[in-house]
Amino acid sequence: MLRVAAVQPSSLAAELGIEPGTELLAINGRELADFLDFEFLSADEAFLLHVRTPAGEEIEFDIERPEGLPFGITLEPPQILRCANRCDFCFVDGNPDGARKALFIRDDDYRLSFRHGNFATLTNLRPRDVDRIIEYRLSPLYVSVHATDPEIRRRLLRNPKAPAVLEQMAMFAEHGIRFHTQIVVVPGVNDGPVLERSLADLYAMGERVLTAAVVPVALTAHSKLDLVRALTPAEAAAAVDEVERWSSRARRERGEGWVYGSDELYLDAGRPLPPAEAYDGFPQAENGVGAVRYLQQLIAEGRRGLRDMAGRRALVCTGTAMARLMPPILQAVSEATGAVFDLAVLENGYFGSSVTTAGLLPGRAFLDALRGKSAYDLALLPAEAVSDAGVFVDDVSLAEVEAEAPMPVLPSYHFTDALGAERAA
Ligand code: SF4
Repeated sequence: MLRVAAVQPSSLAAELGIEPGTELLAINGRELADFLDFEFLSADEAFLLHVRTPAGEEIEFDIERPEGLPFGITLEPPQILRCANRCDFCFVDGNPDGARKALFIRDDDYRLSFRHGNFATLTNLRPRDVDRIIEYRLSPLYVSVHATDPEIRRRLLRNPKAPAVLEQMAMFAEHGIRFHTQIVVVPGVNDGPVLERSLADLYAMGERVLTAAVVPVALTAHSKLDLVRALTPAEAAAAVDEVERWSSRARRERGEGWVYGSDELYLDAGRPLPPAEAYDGFPQAENGVGAVRYLQQLIAEGRRGLRDMAGRRALVCTGTAMARLMPPILQAVSEATGAVFDLAVLENGYFGSSVTTAGLLPGRAFLDALRGKSAYDLALLPAEAVSDAGVFVDDVSLAEVEAEAPMPVLPSYHFTDALGAERAA
């Protein structure tokens, strides 16, 4: 069921009298299953929209809307499609008891892959999903390939029914679909020659595979450590070498690197991160691929818009992954604002110290880090650690952290969003 969560004031939907709670039933007689149906079927300038009001009345609107005018509604979040796999390295198994409920959802949703760049395995597609991907031309899709060898991939996903991913991608590619791909490297399973073959297969798909990212398996103290382990530095270095062999070839033959190692892979290998230009515009920065260089670039570009904070002191909280990489970033922010930025590197006591990314730090870690730090005028927290509902992975809310901290607290993705001239703290 597709229901309206909010209506923007003075919008077309508001003029029609659509209100929160209204069910959107059909457009031009076609039933609406989810936001994709609504977005694609309402793209025309004129359409018939069949709704049921919260009072139960069914109405059909004959809508004409000038091109580009938004309809003005926010839909209730979709029912997430669940995953059909049982990977040994699944992040869900790595959650401690009591983690935020959403972290226990094994989502594998091609719709969110298209809309938000979430990676999907395409192993749970029903025939009608395949039809929709083709009909709506959902491109690019973000696909977790892991291994192109069907048997090895089935083993990785613990799913004997997983279809052969190359065949699936080739079929979609015939309909104009393009792909960003990722390979999560599990030592002894899909590294070494398997990784080499996977990259060769993906490269052979030509322009249909836009990018490939190689990411080390991420485990926590709660993962199935009897079944899967992290890469050793030597294994990570071998994966980096493989990535760089292919990226050199791609740059020579196609003008772009095409395959990129994640920041974590370089850190695990003890190798320096490639320069910003090696990421070709950062197509997978949200996947932790070039995220550090992306951040540095944003700060450099946004310097002029940062406010004057001379004489002030700020505390920047982050996870251990960024600890080594932060000093030059903080130096740049400090020069741009005149403030002193100190770094608080927080261990993840919730998932275990092997989880180093800032986005998975629990609220309790911030409460502990900020308590008693009254010498600071401001604290910056990684915004990616806070959900849309304003809570951390352990269900501690941002409001609780703000209430207990002795200084103003700002979530920030890249400093320039929190320290712009118009923000005050
Ligand atoms: S694909 Fe694997 S890692 Fe992703 S949700 Fe499913 S079981 Fe977990």
